[in-house]
Amino acid sequence: MKTRFGHWIGGEEVTTRSWLDNINPSDTRERIGEYAFGDATDVNDAVAAARAAFPAWSKSAPQLRHDILRRASDEVFARKTELGHLLASEEGKTLPEAIGEVGRAAQVLAFTAAEALRLDGRKFAGLAGDSEIDVTREPLGVVGIVTPWNFPIAIPAWKIAPALAAGNTVVFKPSELVPGSAWMLVDILQRAGLPKGVLNLVIGAGAAGGALAGHADVAALSFTGSLDTGRKVGMAGIASTPMKKLQLELGGKNPLVVLDDADLELAVECALNGAFYSTGQRCTASSRLIVTDGIRERFVARLIERLERLKIGHALADGTDIGPVVSAAQWQKDLDYIDIGKREGARLRFGGAALERATPGHYLQPALFTDVTPGMRIAREEIFGPVAVVQAARDYDEALALSNDTEFGLTAGICTNNLKHANHFRRNAHAGVVKVNLGTSGLDYHVPFGGLSNSSYGPREQGHDALDFYTTTKTAYTRCEL
Ligand code: NAD
Repeated sequence: MKTRFGHWIGGEEVTTRSWLDNINPSDTRERIGEYAFGDATDVNDAVAAARAAFPAWSKSAPQLRHDILRRASDEVFARKTELGHLLASEEGKTLPEAIGEVGRAAQVLAFTAAEALRLDGRKFAGLAGDSEIDVTREPLGVVGIVTPWNFPIAIPAWKIAPALAAGNTVVFKPSELVPGSAWMLVDILQRAGLPKGVLNLVIGAGAAGGALAGHADVAALSFTGSLDTGRKVGMAGIASTPMKKLQLELGGKNPLVVLDDADLELAVECALNGAFYSTGQRCTASSRLIVTDGIRERFVARLIERLERLKIGHALADGTDIGPVVSAAQWQKDLDYIDIGKREGARLRFGGAALERATPGHYLQPALFTDVTPGMRIAREEIFGPVAVVQAARDYDEALALSNDTEFGLTAGICTNNLKHANHFRRNAHAGVVKVNLGTSGLDYHVPFGGLSNSSYGPREQGHDALDFYTTTKTAYTRCEL
């Protein structure tokens, strides 16, 4: 069985000077594999390969691009249990969640395959009446893609697929914590028929990502990760010559508002799923629960009853609801924030303890704080773990104000049976995605995804809108009569 995995550069799997252990967070004794650990040298090689492949790929037939993405989708779907097993082993989400994510990646590949056939343009009459104007979508060149660890196959799929469908070539740097799913996705796409150098993989950490962000031959960079890293990537992309087109998908501190008239069970379900499933490690997690006075104590009591029943354990074990935290560093960060919350004067109403299980892993009991005021760090900063805060609001107006009191703006949800408040919230919540009587997490792949303020920078991802980032327009005039 293969245990060492190299980069993919110019259609070949290449080895490297340094290697990285891919460790299972459910059982830290288990090494999933040894993966190449690259730096700027590997990035330079990968960019050169992508640059050489661009002229032919950018002129390739849309049908060819479609067929390759479609074949890759079919293989990902057919192997979703095996790939889900790998994903759950390296990231720590439960097996059903991981298989679901792999299925999503397959759907994204299939949807985007068809996008290759739908690359559209527009036609105008010249205003002087003597010309016709064609506005066409053009690929950008070499696109750099840098991804986080929390969706190890879905995020790479929803960036790589539209980049390729539009005729770009790609250098992809996944998170160093989850190289296994990334390697498999690239392997599948290569075998689906991509010409050499069209898609390149460099596994590595910040140094490799930074080299990509500053590389002069990279025309555009799509990044998903934290706000702090995103800022650095953005600065490097703008400082490089020529300046890069940038898409930065960043953090969130997403509010779920629960009003007095909400269906209690539905609201608790939305909160439980949104705040704690996938170990709370979702950019769209409902980490702030803003609850009005008339329902708050009932809501908190019921949420705690549900939290008590959750099974926290090995990601692959039957019946596990919540897997481990992804890494020792993230686990420590979550615990630190739980401490900060207590010191700030918030009341820890449930959980927050490190847990021991049969296997050594980064297990953490989900934590719920109440008595949280808007200035507290646990109410303002993204924790990115199974930690949620309940904030008190007198009425809808105060709930909306609290909801919008954030530097982020990714998703926002409201649970209410009041049409007036639901509609008002839909229009006035400061977020790129708004949900009414639904959890803040989860989005279909055929609609645009992205946030406001410090949650996003640049064009939206997913759906048909994804092509806005991966293409530019060319405006071409032709004289009508000579
Ligand atoms: P991170 O910022 O630590 O790392 C993201 C990626 O950037 C990784 O591949 C990492 O190796 C790379 N990187 C690190 N330093 C770099 C540098 N100086 N230059 C270039 N690249 C560098 O984020 P993470 O911990 O992997 O992911 C969690 C974050 O991602 C959370 O903030 C979460 O909200 C966010 N996220 C956002 C979305 C979204 O769509 N908005 C989706 C998923 C996750």
